[in-house]
Amino acid sequence: MKKHNYSAGPCILPQEVFEKSAQAILNFNNSDLSILEISHRSKDFVAVMEEARALAIELLGLEGKGYQALFLAGGASLEFLMTPYNLMKENGKAAYLDSGTWASAAIKEAKFFGETVIVASSKDENYNHVPKGYTIPTDADYFHCTSNNTIFGTQMKEFPTLDIPMVCDMSSDIFSRNIDFSKFAIIYAGAQKNMGPAGTTLVVVKEEILGKNGRNIPSMLDYAKHIKAESMYNTPSVFPVYASLLTLQWLKNLGGIPAIEKINNAKANLLYTEIDRNPLFKGTAVVEDRSTMNATFLLDTPLHTDTFNAMLKEAGIIGLPGHRSVGGYRASMYNAMPLDSVQVLVDVMKDLENKI
Ligand code: PLP
Repeated sequence: MKKHNYSAGPCILPQEVFEKSAQAILNFNNSDLSILEISHRSKDFVAVMEEARALAIELLGLEGKGYQALFLAGGASLEFLMTPYNLMKENGKAAYLDSGTWASAAIKEAKFFGETVIVASSKDENYNHVPKGYTIPTDADYFHCTSNNTIFGTQMKEFPTLDIPMVCDMSSDIFSRNIDFSKFAIIYAGAQKNMGPAGTTLVVVKEEILGKNGRNIPSMLDYAKHIKAESMYNTPSVFPVYASLLTLQWLKNLGGIPAIEKINNAKANLLYTEIDRNPLFKGTAVVEDRSTMNATFLLDTPLHTDTFNAMLKEAGIIGLPGHRSVGGYRASMYNAMPLDSVQVLVDVMKDLENKI
């Protein structure tokens, strides 16, 4: 039985990505070579990198708007320090929204580079909502936010319009919903949720914001150097980039972000409706900030935990336990998660109610 994979990342990817990746490992582009052994400078891989970069920009609606897409290594966590290194001036300052564990990890890194203003935080309420009503200093070098808080199941529904560059960690909801992506100077996202296997990070940079902070930046941390080298300053993560390209092609064929957004909303509605209806369950995030990607919820009493867990196992549902800082359950419903799998989970929740 194929499992219903609710893991938070690495996570489910489209079936055709697995099939085409498997084929490419055996024989890439009929070359009688594996994607794992070809040179990153080969014509075939250069074409992969070029298409992946162009398709990312196209799907985000950023063509002709001065953006460059990069596929870098080091995870989204490296971007926590690359963004201040590239944007924060010596003796400058940056503004951060503290909406979760990953946002606070980004803040920790920014502090190595200069004054870091936390414009608002929901930490005191265990990040059960996205802070609102804050003021962003107009003299900050940039504002950093996290579009989706993977651990706490909250999502920013609106983004400010600013005169300073806005940087966003979109690791767990990139390509899942329509946003005016041109509001952002830098968008970054680890591949291992909506794009591909772990090992590469998509960074989308508005070129005109670079080279203005007066710092000497080590080459591997310098976005301008990576752009100049067409995302091949050093050996890129060949296989993760290839699998990411396959996912982006899958998304384009499906109808792009507008099409997947409808499916994602249907999945989220189905699950949240059951969480709210079923007296045995309770959501942990405030309703208006609920994430369409990660739904966090608790059982009413620990007495039902063993029964529910056994029923989940029986139904082939895996990856549902919540992060230790929230407890309970977290259903990660990334782009590749079919509506049918969410229905299976909802049916198990209903069955639990009938059983008890
Ligand atoms: N940011 C967000 C929102 C995440 O969900 C994660 C990982 O789950 C990270 C950053 C860290 O990503 P990485 O492991 O690629 O460094």
